[in-house]
Amino acid sequence: MNGSVVIVGAGVAGLSLARDLASKGMDVTVYDAKLHVSDSASKASGILSVSGLNRIGIPYQKAVVNRLNGAVLHTGNETLRVKADHTMALVIDRGKLAEATLIEAEKAGASVILGKRLDREAVRDIARKNMVLVGADGAVSTVASTFSFPPIKEYVLTYKAEYNSARVDDMRVVEMFFSDAASGFFAWTVPYSKEKVEAGIGVSGFAKRNSATAFRAFEKTNSMLSNARFTKGWASMIPLSSRKVTVKDNIALVGDAAGQVKATTGGGIIFGVSCAKILAATIESHIRKGTPLLRYERDWRRRYSMDLRLHSMLHSYYSGMSTRNFELLFRLSKLLGAESFLSKYGDMDRPSAMIKRFFLRDLTS
Ligand SMILES: Cc1cc2nc3c(=O)[nH]c(=O)nc-3n(C[C@H](O)[C@H](O)[C@H](O)COP(=O)(O)OP(=O)(O)OC[C@H]3O[C@@H](n4cnc5c(N)ncnc54)[C@H](O)[C@@H]3O)c2cc1C
Repeated sequence: MNGSVVIVGAGVAGLSLARDLASKGMDVTVYDAKLHVSDSASKASGILSVSGLNRIGIPYQKAVVNRLNGAVLHTGNETLRVKADHTMALVIDRGKLAEATLIEAEKAGASVILGKRLDREAVRDIARKNMVLVGADGAVSTVASTFSFPPIKEYVLTYKAEYNSARVDDMRVVEMFFSDAASGFFAWTVPYSKEKVEAGIGVSGFAKRNSATAFRAFEKTNSMLSNARFTKGWASMIPLSSRKVTVKDNIALVGDAAGQVKATTGGGIIFGVSCAKILAATIESHIRKGTPLLRYERDWRRRYSMDLRLHSMLHSYYSGMSTRNFELLFRLSKLLGAESFLSKYGDMDRPSAMIKRFFLRDLTS
């Protein structure tokens, strides 16, 4: 066995982990099935909070395509508007972000081999011959299935498309649509510019519905898309729950492979990269000082499982809801002042901090 670390998957979690390990002087190799890191990144959206992006320290500056200062949430005949006087989130070009992260990983000294899909036999061989094997290979992880990690129990099937010549009224807001049609999740539109827009939908994996069919129904009803020109579309999936175990012997899982994703929105970049930082520190200490790799499991859960669980509880609450009940919830939220509270304190990554603030507000007002 040598002192190397092998990472399967050059997504944002795998590449940021490779960069962090290589900059600590570790010997790191990353394998990915695709020929270009931007290939599969475009299947996903890139709505990220500025504070979250700055916290995780990935090179996003050249990948920003738009700045958002709010969100409009629709259901039936009700609408909730959250609008701040500052930028709340950035729209990131996922392909460009992947390329910039690759450059940083290689500059730090990681070796990245593209166009090589690893099968079960290959990952078993790598685990035998190397100090640490990391599965950063997404929700349908070959590493996780080869070594019988517990399954990801909940997921959504998604379809995302891009359009030109759309009619964008407000470039600074993302719109979300909650209804029976997007069962268990929601549909969305994200403006890239005055004319270019992304639209998408997620449907619960339990609903056994085709996301492309659900998307076509949504597309027909959305006025922004009525005269828009479809350019590209992708089907994909998002894990909505974490695996019960993410470390076994010398093997660890990170990012979507571990299920480190917010169940409310499907956002996985901030949590995945944050957990990759914890994993980098654990691997360094494991290789240099012999501390157990198992500490990664304890440390990432201690730091993030409360927030991930809150996202999961909120998601379970609304996922079975009818449009009628959504309308009631929206009306109640307005009465409780949710629009102005979220406009001021909305934090899409850390609901625990927001909830704390909400209750402190009640105690101090
Ligand atoms: C429609 C959609 C919208 C989204 N919107 C957002 C958003 O707005 N904000 C946000 O934060 N997150 C969003 N996400 C989630 C986000 O995209 C993921 O959480 C993130 O990409 C996970 O990164 P990762 O590196 O863990 O895995 P991935 O990005 O899935 O990368 C895994 C990599 O492993 C490779 N691979 C897999 N198997 C093998 C193998 N056997 N051998 C070699 N290589 C292999 C794949 O080619 C892939 O490149 C969205 C996802 C979707 C689908």
